[in-house]
This record gives sequence, structure tokens and C-alpha cells, in this order.
Amino acid sequence: MRTAIGVDLGGSHVSAAVVSEDGAIRSQHEEDLEDLRFESVIAALDATIGAAIKEAGDVAGIGIGSPGNIDAATGAVLYSPNFGWKDVPLGTTLRAKFAHPVFVANDARCATLGEYTFGTGKGTKDFVLLTLGTGIGGGIIAGGELLLGHKWGAGEIGHHQIRPNDGFVCSCGKIGCFEAQASGTGLIRHAFAVAPSFPRSPLLDTTREKLSSKKIRKAAQAGDGHALAAWKNFTADLSIGLANIIAFVNPEVIALGGGVSSANEFILDAVRPTVDLLTTMVPRGTTQIVVATLGNNAGQIGAATMALRGGLKAVDAVAV
Ligand SMILES: [Zn+2]
Repeated sequence: MRTAIGVDLGGSHVSAAVVSEDGAIRSQHEEDLEDLRFESVIAALDATIGAAIKEAGDVAGIGIGSPGNIDAATGAVLYSPNFGWKDVPLGTTLRAKFAHPVFVANDARCATLGEYTFGTGKGTKDFVLLTLGTGIGGGIIAGGELLLGHKWGAGEIGHHQIRPNDGFVCSCGKIGCFEAQASGTGLIRHAFAVAPSFPRSPLLDTTREKLSSKKIRKAAQAGDGHALAAWKNFTADLSIGLANIIAFVNPEVIALGGGVSSANEFILDAVRPTVDLLTTMVPRGTTQIVVATLGNNAGQIGAATMALRGGLKAVDAVAV
């Protein structure tokens, strides 16, 4: 069976996986990042990819999922606020090191390709993945093609504004972006926004830094009043974004990934009726909203899939 290397380039570590063409991860090689200078990151990539290739033997190629705005044709990182990078030749630098084809794309787009090919998108042609974490990462498959956009920015769903007048300030500087309202961070912000109504809430025993979205979600599932009020506002905002996506893309499936979505039916039961109410121009209930199944591995599997397919152009789920 053919294999490729799928790499997840995160803010604190690099992980290179050996992935076979059926989407199975055979092994993973990880290294922590001491700092985010380009040379340091390249050294970590060199070590982890090198170890993965050594173990895999013959590989079809190397796929890298990186944060930021990526030129998927050249592999250059045009802009990555997380890394403080601008116009960095990631693909070209790695191609000089390895005797294999190297492909680079945005990490959320890679995760979308992975979930589409081997997870909840399998068998569909129109699919959206949303990863609800610190922010909201996303990707769109339309007509069997991963949308890349004119300047590689298609799928930046997290930065469409849903509450420009009364929302939270987003990391991008705008007010009320979808990710400011409906990411894991958004859930924490909702909890603090409604806190004055719950002065004796057990959630308020912790500081803002320690109050995690997981803690709020679990408290909501256990019936805590404060957590439920935050959860209600969070899922209301999530529903607005989901209904907007249905209006823009009309996907067959929207998969929710990331920590918050591990609430499974608890989150789906909260959003489905509201999304239906906000869906006006396509038949209600025809977009399935589900929880993603590949978890944190989606990015690496998708990056390897990109390499096995020779890039992001032909991503037809049938023609692996
Ligand atoms: Zn934003």
C-alpha cells in the first residue's frame, strides 16, 4: 500500500505521521518547538520528517499543514500571525532537503480534506468542517473540490462577522467574528459576560485563565445554571454561523471538530432546531450537522492525502 508523510505544524510542536492510502496512521514522530523562528521550525521538521521517512521506507510525498495564509502552489507561507511569518519559503526550503515531492497547505484545509476523505465527509460532494478550538478553523468542499480561493483564503469561516454591534473583539481586530463568539474561547467569554447574573456560581472560583471551555461544557451538561446560560448564548451564536454556511455553501454535511464538539448530542441538540429556524432558502434539515470523527489526526491524514494525490487540485473522494 502507498504511504505518504502527513505533518501537523502547530504552535508548540511538530508531528510527522506515516499515513497509508487507506487513511491509517502507522506511526507518529513528534518534536517540541523551542521557538517559532523559521530556522528552528525547519530543524524540527527536518528531524521529524526524516525519522518518519526512515521508518516508512518508500513514500509518495510529504504533505504539510501549516497555520496561516498559504500559497498551495509554491508552498510559501504568505502570512501567519501565530508564527509571526510573512512570505516564508517553507515548501521550497523543504524540497531542497528531501528527495520527495513536498506540498504545503493551510492546516484547517488539510483537516477538511482528511475528514472529507476518511471521516464524516466520505461519500459526499459538498462538505464543510469547522474546528471549534481556540479559534474556528474551517474548510469547504464544493462539488468534490476543496475551495482554495483567489488568494488562498477560501474557508476562513471563523472571520465572518455575526455580531458586529454587540459582539466580542476578535483576534483579527473585528467585532463579533464567528470565532470570537462560537469557538471554545467564545464559550469562555460568554460565561464571563453572563457572570454578573450568577454571583455565587462555582465556575467563578477560577480565574479567567483557568476557566476552560471544557469545564463550562461539563458544568452545562451537569445542569449548572451559569454554565447553561453561557452555553445557550454560545450555541445561539454557533447556530447563526452554521445557518450562514448553509446559505453560502449548501453542504450535505457540516462536521464540528475540536474540544467543544466532544459534547456530541448535547451540542447537536442545541444547534439543530435554531439552525432550522434560520435556514430559509433551502429545505430545512437537509444539511446534516454531525460531530467530526477523525479528531486531532484529521490534519495529518489530510496533509498525507494531499501528498498522495499530488496536490490539492484533484480531491475527488472516489479517485483516491
Ligand atoms: Zn475575526
